[in-house]
Amino acid sequence: MKRLLIATRNPGKLRDFAGAAASFDIEIAALPDFSSLPTVAEDGHTFEANARKKAEAYSRYVPNEMVLADDSGLEVDALGGAPGVHSARYAADASDPRNREVTDEANNARLLRELKHVPPSQRTGRFVCVLAAARSGRTLKVFRGEVEGMILDTPSGDQGFGYDPLFFCPAIQKTFAELSPEEKARYSHRGAAFQKFLSWYCSQAAGEHG
Ligand code: IMP
Repeated sequence: MKRLLIATRNPGKLRDFAGAAASFDIEIAALPDFSSLPTVAEDGHTFEANARKKAEAYSRYVPNEMVLADDSGLEVDALGGAPGVHSARYAADASDPRNREVTDEANNARLLRELKHVPPSQRTGRFVCVLAAARSGRTLKVFRGEVEGMILDTPSGDQGFGYDPLFFCPAIQKTFAELSPEEKARYSHRGAAFQKFLSWYCSQAAGEHG
C-alpha cells in the first residue's frame, strides 16, 4: 500500500483525505513529528500561494518524499469573496494578533452575523481547495477543486469541521456536516482536488514503470 504524507495539523482535513483515498489502496499519513515543526506563516494572498509555501517548506523535512499541503476556504459572494484565504481565522480579534485560538464555532458565528440581513437567494458561495504536491522544497504541481453551495442561517449536522454545518450542497441536498466521509470525498472541493492529484500521480507512476 502506498503512503502519502500530508502537511496539516487539522484532523478534519486528514479525515477528508483519508475518505478520498479509501478506495485507492493509499494510506494517508500526517508528516512525521508534524507538531514539533515550526509553523509556516500563511501570509499569501491566494490559496495557491499558501499551498505552495506550505508544501515546499514542509517537504524539506522529508527529503525525496512527496508531500501534499492544501490551502482552502469559503468564498461568500455577498461578502465579496470573504472569508477566503482568511477562513481559518475569520473570527480572530484583529486587535490581538497573538491570540492563535479561533474556534470553528466562533468563525461560524461571525459568518452568520455578517449574513444576517442577506436573503436566502443571495447566500451563494463556494468552498475552494488548492492542493500542492512538493518534493525536497520544490512544487511539482498544484490542483484546484471547488464546490458551489448556499450558506444556511442555522447549522445542521455534526460531522466534518469548520463551516461544514452551514454549507448546504444542492447536488446532494445536505450540509457538508451531514455527509459520510465517502460522500464528502465525492462532493467536496478537497475531494475534487485530490481526484485531480490522483490522476496525475497515477500517470506519473505508470510512466516510471512503463
Ligand atoms: P487552512 O487551509 O489551514 O488555511 O484553513 C482553511 C479553513 O477554511 C479551515 O480552518 C475552515 O475554517 C475552512 N475550510 C476549508 N475547508 C473546509 C471544509 O471542507 N469544511 C469546512 N470548512 C473548511
